[in-house]
Amino acid sequence: MSLLNQVDIGNEYRAAKAEVLAERIAIRKQELADDLLILCHHYQQDAVFAFAHETGDSLKLAKRAAESSSRRYIVFCGVHFMAESADILTSEGQVVILPDLTAGCSMADMATYEEVEGAWRELATLIDVEKMLPVTYVNSSARLKAFVGEHGGSVCTSSNAERVLTWGLERGEKVFFFPDEHLGRNSAHALGIPADEVVLWTRGEKLGGNTPEALSRAKVILWDGYCTVHMQFSVDQINTLRQEDPDVQVIVHPECRREVVQAADSYGSTEMIIKAVSQSPAGSSWAVGTEINLVKRLAQAFPEKNIRSVSPFECLCSTMYRIDPAHLLWALDNLAAGKVVNRITVDAATAKQAKKALDRMLMI
Ligand code: SF4
Repeated sequence: MSLLNQVDIGNEYRAAKAEVLAERIAIRKQELADDLLILCHHYQQDAVFAFAHETGDSLKLAKRAAESSSRRYIVFCGVHFMAESADILTSEGQVVILPDLTAGCSMADMATYEEVEGAWRELATLIDVEKMLPVTYVNSSARLKAFVGEHGGSVCTSSNAERVLTWGLERGEKVFFFPDEHLGRNSAHALGIPADEVVLWTRGEKLGGNTPEALSRAKVILWDGYCTVHMQFSVDQINTLRQEDPDVQVIVHPECRREVVQAADSYGSTEMIIKAVSQSPAGSSWAVGTEINLVKRLAQAFPEKNIRSVSPFECLCSTMYRIDPAHLLWALDNLAAGKVVNRITVDAATAKQAKKALDRMLMI
């Protein structure tokens, strides 16, 4: 992903006032009408989110794209791996566009195909990899999903990771889980897998920094990737919040460290966090451990509840933030002029294998 270059959109867009951009985006959205589908992830900034036809987490958005076969242009306001999943699930005639090609995911970039394939080969010198299932979090490149598809494994999301892990362990002796260490560890813990049967594969170290005995005993091998946003939440922050407000309910995303999830009252995917907070009674007090745009939007939507971030700092997904109104308008202006810019495509061979891994998840 990091190899993709974004062309300069020019001063006309970069210097335009927010209200001018908003007005012009609204006009383009109307002009492109039923040809266009704008999808926005929950972590997207408000100035872009306001123009979404559909909002959701990465999987919900990819499914929406697939269900909307009459829309020719899918403008994906998320990050690169999400646009790739949309391209895999949509029909041939549909075009997926990412308004800024530098909008990647630091976690997805922490597990390249070459690194995972190299680790798999190293593991094969020690254990029978035919009896090991690979599971990749949806936050990964299409090429990695294809690797998982080829090896009989599955994709997972933050809402079904435990189910997919159970499925993998019913079919194999071990699961190799990447790229997020914390989602894997939290899911393994929830399933009651003993801590000494969960090991961490550290990139760059021989056998991932493990002894042959530890790898032979392991049920789950975790990749050492993480989300730079969710790593910013800490147990100290939760303790301080509880001292200030004994009634506060702390809810965090499973990409947070194990100790943070343990210190919280509950944890779950973005969709689950939205549901828990929105269904709570007026007067409830919440501290939410996920990306700041979603937390602020919840606070605005429910002024009768006390909703704030777990962290006193603004935990922003800076790569998602690159999708701004200027880039959105630039992409729409080009479409209106009959030109497709920033198309995200996954080649047919990769898409076929990656789809196997996505389809397995949908079946589980
Ligand atoms: S919040 Fe974290 S995992 Fe999600 S897109 Fe941003 S960097 Fe990636």
